[in-house]
Amino acid sequence: MSTVSKIFDKVKKEGRKFLLESEAKTVCREYGIPVTDFKVAKNGTEAVEFAQKIGYPVVLKIVSPDVIHKSDVGGVIVNLEDAKDVQRAYEQIMDSVKKHKSNAKIVGVLVQEMAPQSTEIIVGATKDPQFGPTLMFGLGGIFVEILKDVTFRIAPITEDEAREMITAVKAYPLLKGYRNAPQADIEAIVEILLNTSRLVMEHQEIKELDLNPIMVYEKGAKTVDARIILNSE
Ligand code: ADP
Ligand code: MG
Repeated sequence: MSTVSKIFDKVKKEGRKFLLESEAKTVCREYGIPVTDFKVAKNGTEAVEFAQKIGYPVVLKIVSPDVIHKSDVGGVIVNLEDAKDVQRAYEQIMDSVKKHKSNAKIVGVLVQEMAPQSTEIIVGATKDPQFGPTLMFGLGGIFVEILKDVTFRIAPITEDEAREMITAVKAYPLLKGYRNAPQADIEAIVEILLNTSRLVMEHQEIKELDLNPIMVYEKGAKTVDARIILNSE
C-alpha cells in the first residue's frame, strides 16, 4: 500500500474526519506539492532538538485530532529564533490548548520551518454532488475572503486549464510582480494545481482539501498549512 493510502486508512480506522497537519503535508509531499519541512515532537526537549535540525527560525503548532483550527486555541506560535523560544512556546501552546479545550487529545507539537513572507495563494478542492472533485484557486487574504476572487474547474484538469485558473482571477497582475510583491513562479503554481487534481482524482475519499496559504516565491512555492477532510461514510 502507498504511503498516502496508509495514512487515509489509519485516519478512517481511528474514526477521524480530518488529517493532522503532519499527515496532510505528507500526503501533499507524496504528490509533489511543496510543503514546509516539519517534524512532530512529543515533548519540549524533542521540539528543541528538531528545531535545531530544521534550522531557525521555526514555527510550533499543536497536533491534536480534536483541533482543526489551531490558532483559535492558541496553538500556533511563529518566528521562534532559538532553543529558549522553542521551549517557552511549547509550554505556552500546551497551557493554551488545555485552557481552550480541556479534553483535547494531544499528540505533540509540529516543529516546522518558517516560510518567509511572500505572495500568498490558496488552492482548494471540494466535492460537487454532480461533477465530483472540483478545484479552486485564488490569492490569499482579502482576495478570497472578502472579494471572492476565485476560479473553479472540475477535476481532472489539463495544464491549459490550470493556466486558465491562474490567469482568470482579477488579482492575476499581482502575480506578475507589483510594487512590493515580487514576480511569482507561475510554473510552480501550475504544478501544484495539476498535482492537487491528481491527488483528489486518485483519492475519492477526500471531501475537502485546503492548502491555505501557499507562499509563492520568484522560484518555487511552499505550503504553510494543509487541511484534508474525508467523506464521512
Ligand atoms: P490554523 O489551523 O489556525 O489555520 P495555520 O497553520 O494556518 O493554523 O497557522 C496560522 C497562521 O500562522 C498561518 O496562516 C500563517 O500566517 C502563519 N504560519 C503558520 N505556519 C507558518 C510557517 N511555517 N511559516 C510562516 N508562517 C506560518
Ligand atoms: Mg491555516
